[in-house]
Amino acid sequence: MPSVIAPPTLRGGPVRPSTSALRALGPDEVSLTGGFWQEKQTLNSEVILDHCQRWMERIGWIGNFDRAAHGALGSDHAGIEFVDSEVYKLLEALAWELGRKPDADLELRYRALVARVESAQEADGYLHTSFGRSGQPPRYSNLEWGHELYCFGHLIQAAVARLRSGSDDELVRVARRLADHVYGEFGPDGRDAVCGHPEIEVALVEFSRATGEPRYLELARILVERRGRGLLVPDRFGAEYFLDDMPVRDATVLRGHAVRALYLASGALDVAVETDDSALASAVAAQWDNTVARRTYITGGVGSHHLDEAFGEDFELPPDRAYAETCAGIASVMLSWRLLLQTGDAKYADLIERTLLNNILASPRADGRAFFYTNTLHQRVDGTVPEEDEINARAQSSLRAPWFEVSCCPTNIARTLASVNLYFATATETGVQLHQYGDYDVATNLATGQIALEVRTGYPFDGAVSVRIREAPDAESSVSLRIPRWAIGRAVVTVNGARVGYSGSTVTISRAFRAGDELTLDLPMAPRVTHPHPSIDAVRGTVAIERGPLVMCLESCDLREGHDLAGVSIDDRGCLTETVRGARVHAQSAQAPNPDWPYGHDGGFKAENAACDVELIPYFDWANRGPSTMRVWLPVATRPDH
Ligand SMILES: [Zn+2]
Repeated sequence: MPSVIAPPTLRGGPVRPSTSALRALGPDEVSLTGGFWQEKQTLNSEVILDHCQRWMERIGWIGNFDRAAHGALGSDHAGIEFVDSEVYKLLEALAWELGRKPDADLELRYRALVARVESAQEADGYLHTSFGRSGQPPRYSNLEWGHELYCFGHLIQAAVARLRSGSDDELVRVARRLADHVYGEFGPDGRDAVCGHPEIEVALVEFSRATGEPRYLELARILVERRGRGLLVPDRFGAEYFLDDMPVRDATVLRGHAVRALYLASGALDVAVETDDSALASAVAAQWDNTVARRTYITGGVGSHHLDEAFGEDFELPPDRAYAETCAGIASVMLSWRLLLQTGDAKYADLIERTLLNNILASPRADGRAFFYTNTLHQRVDGTVPEEDEINARAQSSLRAPWFEVSCCPTNIARTLASVNLYFATATETGVQLHQYGDYDVATNLATGQIALEVRTGYPFDGAVSVRIREAPDAESSVSLRIPRWAIGRAVVTVNGARVGYSGSTVTISRAFRAGDELTLDLPMAPRVTHPHPSIDAVRGTVAIERGPLVMCLESCDLREGHDLAGVSIDDRGCLTETVRGARVHAQSAQAPNPDWPYGHDGGFKAENAACDVELIPYFDWANRGPSTMRVWLPVATRPDH
């Protein structure tokens, strides 16, 4: 059946709360027009989407659906239990892509994939290729590790993307049948159980918002409330890993498996908003505050444990063992975006910017054909070049790999880049708020009429941002600009050439705008030295260099021949200059001796020093020049006058 045009009331972004301080915009209201972010979105549409689909065809993950439809699937299922979710995340990416830029060939590709998924749906709505057939474990027999509801959640999110980008199609009907099935199995009259991996909660709330079906919200609320009651059998990582150690509303900080924790917090906030549960909303906001203050890397990455992919203790943020999974960064953006919509507080947009630019964008290789799963802040030895046609173990790749046995990150990148424009701006009844800077156009209706504007900038490398009004209501309206935390008090704002005073993290210009009015924002982009909190012992005595919104790193290919990254220390007193995309710093490079005992008296490891200038590059761009070592946190040189 062909898709039908969804009514405008259904359109919007990935999140559309029924009440919020800020209104999210849809693909028809905010679009990238060029520059840095359009390059990334184009890389996604031209390379990454195809890359993901080719891999999943080649290794049978999409074929699982075909074989299920023909009754030919059993214990020989291709891939681990939850590979269905990668197909669904690709579908979500395709849906956003089609909403952004309709394309007949891509539409056919999308529909063909939907048809294959649909063919595997069973009569009662159940849809999973790993369970319930001869030779497979029974349905819902392994809720701890089976990821059934997790996969369903991703299918439902793909359906939401389709509805929000203007089409009501077969995928939406598949998702409805599936959600109805889950309601029967896990709803008020169903089993008292939850899935080991949260995800369906956030999907169900959004599906309820998009379809108007209250049972999906009810089910999400029940699943959020059930968690934390010890319904899952703890494995070696304990109940905390599953966030099953305490109810969401009782937790004060995010803990356990980072992606699970952040997906759950996002779903819990959505439930809180739709059920007017201010205590639950406040609990999630407090968890965000405490996690950002004590458990977040300078890149915005989260999760410092490799073994359980989990948050560490407060201030346990080792750079060399940073897990900082790409998906956790994406999940962090999901949560911050929801909190931003609810509160309008610029601190959430600040973290979104930091995480997008310095954690998420570090994942895809410059050519879009390989990805980091983990995002270390310190690579001690040259990475091993992975085979371009082999599946990698997830965290073992020391360079970006084309595909993983658990390949959650590449498809998560795909759906995020396809919809990244939707995180740039919002609206209220009276104005537009610009949260992220890039080249993009906004056109939306305010209570007083249509407003249209264009944002142009060389950001994140250049700090000059221009906002030109193309159309505005006759009555007064407003345009708000976020001042990044590092620029507060130093950024310069003008309106039609006249400087505007401000304080705080947001500048709001209110007036009866006319076409041609121009606002400018000038952000100070000189490189700056950033010190870690003294409690982060792993990086004591070091500093990071940031330039604008970008975290810099030193990569070994930018050192002189024969110099070892391990022996570099920098002079943090001035001598820091700006380059086109990065910074240059004065450094000493000492060759550390190779001792038989790696401890000694002060100065015992000093070798010949050679002062030189070294180039720092944006962290997201590291490892694009072959195997290398790299570090973000740079030791400060011992000063002779100290
Ligand atoms: Zn991942």
